[in-house]
Amino acid sequence: MMGSNDKPQDELFYAFNLEELVPQDHLLRSIDRFLDFTDLREHLAPYYSHTGRPSVDPELMIRMLLIGYCLGIRSERQLCEEINLNLAYRWFCRLSITDKVPDHSTFSKNRHGRFRESEAFRFVFEQVIKRCIEEGLIGGEGFAVDASVVKADASRQRHHEDDDDDWGGGSRAINEYLDALHEEGSSITPAKKVSQTDPMARWTAAPGGPAYYAYSTNYLVDTEAGIIVDVEATTALRNQEVWSTKAMIERVQERFNLKTQKLIGDTAYGTAEFLSWMVEEAGIEPHVPVWDMGNNKPDRFGRSDFIYDAETDSYTCPGGKQLLRSRRNYSKPRTGIPKDGFIRYRAALHDCTNCSLKTQCCPNTRVRKIMRSQHENVRDVARVIGKTPAYQQTRKERKKVEMLFAHMKRILKMDRLRLRGLSGARDEFLLTATAQNLRRMAKCLGTGPPKIPETVPI
Ligand code: SF4
Repeated sequence: MMGSNDKPQDELFYAFNLEELVPQDHLLRSIDRFLDFTDLREHLAPYYSHTGRPSVDPELMIRMLLIGYCLGIRSERQLCEEINLNLAYRWFCRLSITDKVPDHSTFSKNRHGRFRESEAFRFVFEQVIKRCIEEGLIGGEGFAVDASVVKADASRQRHHEDDDDDWGGGSRAINEYLDALHEEGSSITPAKKVSQTDPMARWTAAPGGPAYYAYSTNYLVDTEAGIIVDVEATTALRNQEVWSTKAMIERVQERFNLKTQKLIGDTAYGTAEFLSWMVEEAGIEPHVPVWDMGNNKPDRFGRSDFIYDAETDSYTCPGGKQLLRSRRNYSKPRTGIPKDGFIRYRAALHDCTNCSLKTQCCPNTRVRKIMRSQHENVRDVARVIGKTPAYQQTRKERKKVEMLFAHMKRILKMDRLRLRGLSGARDEFLLTATAQNLRRMAKCLGTGPPKIPETVPI
């Protein structure tokens, strides 16, 4: 006989245990074990007034945000609705079945302002890192670095005209941009195309794809368990992405006493200046391919086919001839370095003209020229490391950062920002990295022992 569920739903009193309803292997239960907000209240106390109407509990706000970022719920309105309906979400937020969930507009207002001023999101991110260190998930030796471009919340069609001083209303993102632009010693250079809604975002494009406004998220990842030890938001400019690594490495050392021994990155991090900072200033082993110009034709001699001799300060070509900095006899030897930081070494005209290897070497120029960076010694350090078996291993470890970016975009749905301005991007990237670290901890350390249930009578 076909059953039917026609019981009345109008009972006045229920007695059930919210704790018991959440499955032991629920992701939020696993994550909850690693959260401790005891210090957060102390950290935020100076930013709250002692009088007036009580605000929304900051712990509740953070817990709600973590649900959104851990489970890829990107809309604030949807997040508030889901928490209202879902018992596991209520349990995670420490809300009973009758507690009111903050309205989405109150929620939106509260996540800006005090939270940004007090750097609450960075505080929570760092609390999670401290827990990862306690749990032994961070080796602290080898870090991998990379950047990923995330679309800004800005229309591709709305550009600001160069000669127009009217920014129309002055939203938070616009004010932030204008303040940064007019700041003394500002490093911001106005781009060709500036968004009318989020001027700090950069007009950028992936190879072969359409252009759009975007920011970059930069991850510094410990290669042991793939924990993100630091995150930095930058505009989508290669130079800013690369140099944000310096800020992250220094911060990680200052906050957690983690000294970077080796840094793994792609060719973008292999510029002479950055390698020089890594090797000579920071004492870091560079596991980075050296950024070399003009080494990309397989049937031609590349730079690596020319051997440098420090004693004579010259290169020897595959034909056994010398390439020198200068062939004139100056009364005062020319030792200066050109403005671009690259010294030129040239072969003699008569050597190249009569050379049988010319078609493989310099078929389109009269003589062969080699450019040597003023930081070539550190580039050589990176080249030597590039030939070791350890380097082959670290190339594989770099994939961990790429996987984290793929996870961020595909599973956590962070392929477009919801907040505007660099500060909005910073908040979102910090919360995403916190969510990824919590999920990683839950995966690595399992669900753990169940908590003692508390009955919630209603
Ligand atoms: S073309 Fe000139 S630089 Fe090249 S191998 Fe011959 S001699 Fe050497």
